[in-house]
Amino acid sequence: FLMLIVSSPSGAGKTTLCNRLRAEFPDLRFSISHTTRKPRPTEVDGREYHFVDQPVFQQMLDDNAFAEWAPVHGYHYGTSLAEIELARGTAKGVLFDIDFQGARQIKAHYPEAVSVFILPPSLDELERRLRGRGTEDEAATRQRLANAKREIAHYGFFDYVLVNDELEQAYGRLRSVCY
Ligand code: ADP
Ligand code: 5GP
Repeated sequence: FLMLIVSSPSGAGKTTLCNRLRAEFPDLRFSISHTTRKPRPTEVDGREYHFVDQPVFQQMLDDNAFAEWAPVHGYHYGTSLAEIELARGTAKGVLFDIDFQGARQIKAHYPEAVSVFILPPSLDELERRLRGRGTEDEAATRQRLANAKREIAHYGFFDYVLVNDELEQAYGRLRSVCY
């Protein structure tokens, strides 16, 4: 049972790379996190995330329902234990798109998990990608860019570090880490 953690600063291309993995390996189940962030126009509740409000998130915390959780960019994000059990029962592996704080917690509980950190080619390119995606307002964009430097500082914790320069090449490297 493969437990694959993919982390990156916002805008580096982690979702794009994970979507490629999901398309090629349907047996790898994407772990659907809970978040208090509002859905983007393209996002569907129960597909990208379980979108919940703060009281529901707090209730889950009180119930010890999370394998890991963390505050990220001003919201709460967490992986439920139920999500991991569901993957164990139905898939050959589970893919976590979580931040470095969550990666630490998953590794602490499941040392067999494999962790990958995706780096942008440069901070300028990260900003271009984040702005090009056009999903965040100016304040949220600035917050994500400021947080990016802090997140990148933790790259040494990960088992693998990949630079997402050219997409096909980066995907090839990610693929070879897990299969
Ligand atoms: P993340 O999930 O890490 O926040 P996304 O996957 O949403 O990042 O990617 C951010 C933006 O960058 C998207 O618009 C995506 O299409 C683009 N992108 C991803 N990978 C590359 C790449 N290798 N080269 C150029 N643009 C990319
Ligand atoms: P976004 O709001 O762009 O979807 O995600 C913001 C950040 O939260 C990303 O770094 C993503 O990996 C992280 N994230 C998403 N789900 C979880 C989770 O369940 N736990 C943790 N710790 N981080 C998460």
